[in-house]
Amino acid sequence: MSPFSFVPLAQQPIPGADVASSSLPTQGEVPIPSSHSHLHLTGKHSGVPCPKCTTETQFADAMGVSVLACPACLGFLSQGKDFSRIVTVARSHYRGQDTIRPLDHSQLRVARTCPTCHQPFETHAYAGPGTTVLDSCQRCGTVWLDGGELERIIQAPGRR
Ligand SMILES: [Zn+2]
Ligand SMILES: [Zn+2]
Repeated sequence: MSPFSFVPLAQQPIPGADVASSSLPTQGEVPIPSSHSHLHLTGKHSGVPCPKCTTETQFADAMGVSVLACPACLGFLSQGKDFSRIVTVARSHYRGQDTIRPLDHSQLRVARTCPTCHQPFETHAYAGPGTTVLDSCQRCGTVWLDGGELERIIQAPGRR
């Protein structure tokens, strides 16, 4: 007897099952190394688009701080003071090698808009450890960090 000769009911697709199986990484694919270890997405939609790729961001946790993270590019939005806390906590927990990476100057020319209040972001080099470009909104204090950039800040040499 064929394993597929069940009554039609058993062949009904389970909603969401296809999505789950197709999103599984294929064999040999390199796992996403960027913000995944420090960002925990809740799957709860925020209604706020990603300023980089326009995907809707989700509520997420970064080192115990509530942020809005993009599930596609893994960048995240936070408030300035919260961002400082994330950096402080993440750096104090880091036990790996210090790594210096050169600043990507092309990043400084990227013009983006604050998705919260629609003001243009100010793009500048992050003043703390690491060579990282940060977008911040003067009006509402929102800070945008690209996916993987938090790791650069965490791994940069300096006081922990
Ligand atoms: Zn994005
Ligand atoms: Zn803003």
